[in-house]
Amino acid sequence: MTAIEVRRAASPLDDARTSLGEAIDILGYSDGMRQMLATPRREMTVAIPLRRDNGQVEVFTGHRVQHNLSRGPAKGGLRYSAAVDLDEVRALAMWMTWKCALLDVPYGGAKGGVAVDPRQLTLDELERLTRRYTSEILPMIGPARDIPAPDIGTNEQTMAWIMDTYSTNVGYTVPGVVTGKPLSLGGSRGRASATSRGVTVIALEALRHRGIEPSSATAAVQGFGKVGRDAARFLFEAGVRVQAVSDVDGAVFASGGLDLDALGEHVDLTGSVVGFAAAEPIDPADLLELELGLLVPAAVEGVIHEGNADRIRARVVVEGANGPTTSEADRMLAERDVFVVPDILANAGGVLVSYFEWVQGNQSYWWSQREVEDRLRDRMSSAWHAVLEGAQQRGTSLRTAATCIAVERVAEAHRLRGLYP
Ligand code: GLU
Repeated sequence: MTAIEVRRAASPLDDARTSLGEAIDILGYSDGMRQMLATPRREMTVAIPLRRDNGQVEVFTGHRVQHNLSRGPAKGGLRYSAAVDLDEVRALAMWMTWKCALLDVPYGGAKGGVAVDPRQLTLDELERLTRRYTSEILPMIGPARDIPAPDIGTNEQTMAWIMDTYSTNVGYTVPGVVTGKPLSLGGSRGRASATSRGVTVIALEALRHRGIEPSSATAAVQGFGKVGRDAARFLFEAGVRVQAVSDVDGAVFASGGLDLDALGEHVDLTGSVVGFAAAEPIDPADLLELELGLLVPAAVEGVIHEGNADRIRARVVVEGANGPTTSEADRMLAERDVFVVPDILANAGGVLVSYFEWVQGNQSYWWSQREVEDRLRDRMSSAWHAVLEGAQQRGTSLRTAATCIAVERVAEAHRLRGLYP
């Protein structure tokens, strides 16, 4: 989000390590185990020379980090953003490990990133960049090794190019090397909106838990992309009054609630929420500080930080993005009794349906939209109840409880496998 101040006193990696440290202190693990869980297993940084449409060559930098492989193949998205750096990818990979373990999906965690603003490239340039990045990281990925998926700045088309490049190199079609594919190439029904659907399931649970009936709740959603757009719509369909949404260009507010269907049409026509007639423009930074039942940060890391945490007036924060709340802000929100549902639970619907896609692909047997949605809802709600129970039993935040459950599962797998040699 360009319009939003992102303060990174500490990096996302520091935040990820802080959460891990808090869980390990509770679990009482050794320093060796702490180090092992804090350190990525494998990292690759590659140069990606790209021939631009004008004939000039420009070199971009890409990364793929596999944080942990104890419970299965590495899994995680690929991000195209100017802000990508190795530490960010390391943090995102670690969060993927916990997310997969928390949802009991048989994967480790990984993440990829290319430091590029995809809006500055044409479609042909994006294809060449994606194919060259894929061929550089080829030894790391595969359906049993590491399975990329969409993240910020990438989409179904990106996944189709990765799948094709990988398949062409090995000599046969391997749909299982990526998830988040187009339906016609072996994608799953319900994958595109899965993260948003999961965010909504968790948000409704969290509101009710705090004694707020969704039909009388107000909400704001930061980010109107892959996660925020459908999350805002599903909340609206569930009767929540979504008063404000923002995207990279600006934010809009309507105290009586936004009509998300009409707003969706406006965005399809103009490319942004800005200029939506049935709402007033507001400063995107102010969206975070509205008095609300529910705030869903669904854009990037570090947007709730020590500089604005004491001005957050939402009663419940559900993290649609990865790492939107810094560790310092987390402490400040807890002191003020703001109920924060952590990313590794709240946005896990995406990787959960990625797993469903991989399972369907392995069996060449496709589920209905209904089956996908029912299984998504079941597994998200059981994870919610497990985390809530853990937090109540241990007297911790939901983030620490969720991290404890995930870390215990990863550590258990590691112990059973033993240390080689
Ligand atoms: N990029 C998504 C996430 O951060 C999905 C990852 C996946 O499906 O592998 O959870």
